[in-house]
This record gives sequence, structure tokens and C-alpha cells, in this order.
Amino acid sequence: SKYTREDIFRIVEEEDVAFIRLQFCDLFGVPKNIAIPSSQLEKALSNECMFDGISIDGFTRDDESDMYLYPDLDSFEIYPWRPQAGKVARMFCNVYTSDNKPFSGDPRSILGNVIKRAADMGISFKVNPRLEFFLFDYDDNGNPTATTKERAGYFDVAPLDQGENVRREIILNLEEMGFNISSSHHEIAPAQHEIQFEEEDALRAADMIMTFRMAVKTIAKKHGLYATFMPKPVEGISGSGMHMSFLAENSDGENIFVDKDGQLSETAGSFIAGVLSHARGMTLITNPIVNSYKRLVPGYDAPVNISWSQSSNGRSALIRIPSRKSSATRIEVRNPDATCNPYLAIALILAAGLEGIEKKLTPPAELTENIRSISFDQTSSSNVDVLPMTLGEAITAFKADEFGKEILSESVYRKIIEAKKAEWKEFRTCVTKWELDKYLNNF
Ligand code: GLN
Ligand code: MG
Ligand code: MG
Repeated sequence: SKYTREDIFRIVEEEDVAFIRLQFCDLFGVPKNIAIPSSQLEKALSNECMFDGISIDGFTRDDESDMYLYPDLDSFEIYPWRPQAGKVARMFCNVYTSDNKPFSGDPRSILGNVIKRAADMGISFKVNPRLEFFLFDYDDNGNPTATTKERAGYFDVAPLDQGENVRREIILNLEEMGFNISSSHHEIAPAQHEIQFEEEDALRAADMIMTFRMAVKTIAKKHGLYATFMPKPVEGISGSGMHMSFLAENSDGENIFVDKDGQLSETAGSFIAGVLSHARGMTLITNPIVNSYKRLVPGYDAPVNISWSQSSNGRSALIRIPSRKSSATRIEVRNPDATCNPYLAIALILAAGLEGIEKKLTPPAELTENIRSISFDQTSSSNVDVLPMTLGEAITAFKADEFGKEILSESVYRKIIEAKKAEWKEFRTCVTKWELDKYLNNF
């Protein structure tokens, strides 16, 4: 590993770190932390920092609510956007119960379990996420809006691209925190941007997504802009996704998704087959909010069909194989959005892929036609299965697939269903502006 206890004490001293945040997240990916002054570091590194989980979503257990934070030393980073005298650092933590057992509702431990299962099969996974987001204006009262004066589009440059300086600062900050950023660009819609990281070990990639969301929002605000990862903030234009590419290596560090001839390997096919077979059941986790389903519609390069494609036209397929040199062959899963809990989303995708590899599944025929222009009607009548179209359908599909329960544990599975049902009910019973505009005059 990267750091020892002594390293952490030394860095805290040398860098004048005044506070350390012990970070974890709830079941819905909401970051939580306890800040300790650096005088408490000894206690934190001895896994003695405790909190009461009673009011954290998904954290209550019937018998007890005292939880302990076990910091992951390698995740130690200083927040570059906080004061530089008396700095603020953070460590991601795993959550343990008072009897020294990993807490079954800790998303980071759930992902850790899947990574361990892969390691037992001699496989280590890397993940390469790319997040899209909008930089909107604040209104005169300082409230976020979904509007922008910007008019730029795909790959445009300044002065049309008004987010250039924000993106620059985001990337410089993240690089200071040890991120390897591979590229960034203006996305298709006005004020929409994308930043892509280099591949990282699966756990670190999930940590990075947590950090990334925080950094983007914090730095945008400094520039007077509101950053949102909401999947479809404006109807009629592109939504924002979080595509993730998966790489797999054997114990010799060889890419097992490519065969000797540089073609997609059988293992890759099995991984794809596994992910496709659980795609409907996992959507509640990868696309967890009502608004997620406004993005998963035809016409905006977001996936609708449960299909895969190696063609560069395949952007509406759920899984795409980006063309690149064979040793870097990877499998891109395109439906997740950045409102998901990255630990749980990555855990389920990897577990589904592993199941495919274990069972030596073969993938369905690759989609060869250009389905970019497919319409709603064609989608439902074709023989290709489709992703859930609403949060309600996603809940039903999640319940119908035992897989979610198996990977997440029974109690997490129950808590997610309970919370998502309440959210769906709230939306279902809400009378929207669309309904009033459409019906009030006619009936
Ligand atoms: N914004 C699209 C989505 O929702 C992706 C567009 C792209 O990166 N080509 O997934
Ligand atoms: Mg994009
Ligand atoms: Mg893209």
C-alpha cells in the first residue's frame, strides 16, 4: 500500500493539516463525514472514531447504532480548494460495527467484497469513469437554475465555451489530489461538459467519483456557476450520463478482455453477457432517481436497448466496445448516471460480469444496425429487451432479480426498495405542470 501510519503523521505535520475528515457515504451515495482536529489523528488511525448511525439513511440496525470508522490510509488527500494554512485533508473509511465486523450496509465494504471475489478468481478490475455535467447560472437570489447563456456545443472552444476556466481549475485541483485526468471537453448541449479519468482500481475509482462530484460543485460555485449531475435537467436536449469502462487483468497483469489475435476475448463476451442478463435488475442502482429515466430515451446517445455493439455507431447500445489499441480493450457500460451510489453501481456491474465469466455465458448477437435513430415504437416491438422506462418499473425489475439481494445483502436490498418506493409514490401522486398545460383547458 501507499502510506503507512507514520507517513500519515508525517504528512499531517509537514503540510500543516489542521483537520481531517473521515469520509464514508450512505446507501444513496450521499457523502458523510466527521471532521477531527489533527490532535485526534492517533485515535482515528487506531480505528477508534465512533459515530451514531441512527439517522444516516440505511445505517440503522435493530440492535445497535454505534459504528466505527476504519480509515483507508491510501485514500489520504488534502483538499486543494480549502485554506492552505491549517489545511483540510480526508480519508475514506470503511464502517465497522462495535464487535469489529464490517457493517453489512457500508457501500464501500459491499464493493470490497466483490473485488475480493474477483481476486479469488485471479482477476483484478479497473474502472475508467467519465462524468457529464451542466454548469448553469444562479438566479438573482442565489438559487440554482437550469438555464445558461452559453451557446457552445460538442468540442467547441472559448470564447464560445464559457466553462473552459472552470474545467481548467477543476482538473488542476483534481490532479493535485492525485487524480489522473485523461481528457475533458465541451459536451453536446450548451453548458454541458465532460471530464474523463484514467482507469483506476475499482475501489479507488468509486472513491474518485465521490471526490469528483464534490470538487466540481465546489469549484463551479467559486466561479458563480451551479454544477449539476442531474441526468436530464432540460427536456429536449442531451442528458448527463456517467459512462464507465471496465478493464480486467489476470495475475500477470494481462488484459483478459482481448485474445491473442487482438480480438475481443471469450471472457469479455461472458462479462458482457453477465451484465446484459442483469441489466434490468440493476437499473435501480445505476439509475436511481425519477429523473434518471427521462435521460434513458431514444435520440440523445443514451442507451435504451439491452444490447451491445462494437461499432462506433453503437452509442445507443447499453454496452459499447470503444475502438482502441488491443491491449487497452475495455467494455463501456453506458446507462449509469452520476446520481448513483458509485460503490453499489460498480459492485453490481462487476458481480454481474463475474457471474457471466463463472458460468461461461455467451453474449447475444451484437447489434449491427445503427440504432441511433430508433424510435419509441420500434424500441418496444423489436426483439431486443429494453431498460426500465420509469423508476417504478426499475423497482419491479430489481425485486424480480434475486441477484441484487445476493450482492447487496437482504437488509440493504430492503432499505433501498423501501426508500425508492416512497420516492416513486411521491412522484406518481404529484400533479405536474405538464398535466396542467395539457389537460386543464380541455377538460
Ligand atoms: N450525454 C449522453 C448520455 O446521456 C452521452 C453523449 C456522449 O458522450 N456521446 O449518455
Ligand atoms: Mg459524453
Ligand atoms: Mg462521451
